[in-house]
Amino acid sequence: MTLAFVAIGANLGDAQATVRQAMADLAGLPHSRVSARSSLYRSAPVDASGPDFINAVVALETDLAPEALLDALQQLELRAGRERPYRNAPRTLDLDLLRHGDTVMHSATLTLPHPRLEERAFVLLPLAEVAPGQVSAAALARVADQAIQRL
Ligand code: ADP
Ligand code: MG
Repeated sequence: MTLAFVAIGANLGDAQATVRQAMADLAGLPHSRVSARSSLYRSAPVDASGPDFINAVVALETDLAPEALLDALQQLELRAGRERPYRNAPRTLDLDLLRHGDTVMHSATLTLPHPRLEERAFVLLPLAEVAPGQVSAAALARVADQAIQRL
């Protein structure tokens, strides 16, 4: 089993319900087990438009390979009604693979660790909650000015 971390974000419709449903859906993925789930957070959109986001992170123990896990995440996004009309459009559900064990890769479809992992408070705070060792105090300090509320 590999320990992976998935970031969940939603900012359309009942975003809290969407994030909770996504957590349940992740728990139902084949060859996978959710080993920790963060609180839900509310953050203002950054480089995106629309209402506030609801964010969370789950730790997933999985035997799925990175590309297979990304496929599964994208299927869950589609099931939640995700459309991509333009870059950074509001989204019903965004599932990003933050880390997949120690895998470092850069393909046309998948970059690991996630390239913007350290830029956003809405990723770092919930990640620090489920895996304190994964997030340095320095990284947290760099995003300390970003508005985010733990629900
Ligand atoms: P955002 O960057 O806002 O999450 P999308 O969810 O539309 O935008 O993702 C765009 C593309 O990013 C996806 O089609 C996917 O192939 C690619 N991608 C590359 N690395 C990752 C990753 N670690 N997790 C999720 N998507 C990734
Ligand atoms: Mg995404």
